Amino acid sequence: GLCQQASFLISAAKVDQCPTDAGLEIAFAGRSNAGKSSALNTLTHANLARTSKTPGRTQLLNFFRLDEQRRLVDLPGYGYAKVPIPLKQHWQQHLEAYLSSRASLAGVFLMMDIRHPLTDFDRLMLDWGRASRMPLHILLTKADKLAFGAAKNALLKVEREIRQQWGDNASIQLFSAPKRQGIEQAQQVMAQWLGL
Ligand code: GDP
Repeated sequence: GLCQQASFLISAAKVDQCPTDAGLEIAFAGRSNAGKSSALNTLTHANLARTSKTPGRTQLLNFFRLDEQRRLVDLPGYGYAKVPIPLKQHWQQHLEAYLSSRASLAGVFLMMDIRHPLTDFDRLMLDWGRASRMPLHILLTKADKLAFGAAKNALLKVEREIRQQWGDNASIQLFSAPKRQGIEQAQQVMAQWLGL
């Protein structure tokens, strides 16, 4: 499939270093340790996200090429407690600049650890998505850490809050990288957003 040909394209420290803003791309966001890299790798059958963890690339937007017209973007993981505040502000500034200016951005995948959903940053992303009419798709990651019933309950609870506060702008599903749970559902959303 398309995603099997995914390959590293470029790291951008600023918006003006991003690839030409044409075609379509999906951005991956999430709190550090939420499982963003694992999700990216699982969904693309590649080891893309290792690139993003290479020292020196972690603070950047990392672009992966799917085909001539389509890309995935690994956004900087937010919430590293040990990162100095000026650096955090630097990330936030560039993240906001990217999100607000990128015409080819079709939607954002937001990874949330099922045991710690809806962090402050998650809520900011959801607010931004609603304000800018940018669709968000949430992966409740590490679903395998809970028993089946508990995972279902967590999904329903978060889904209810999302509906109440953010309406139809965000969709949500369970996901587990090691159990390979939720892959097809996530790939369907990706294909739809990428016009496939
Ligand atoms: P990132 O910082 O958001 O990119 O998170 P990673 O993908 O690097 O994952 C952080 C940690 O959580 C790693 O130890 C992963 O092995 C683990 N992890 C990620 N996804 C899952 C999952 O679906 N299930 C379980 N059990 N562990 C996961």
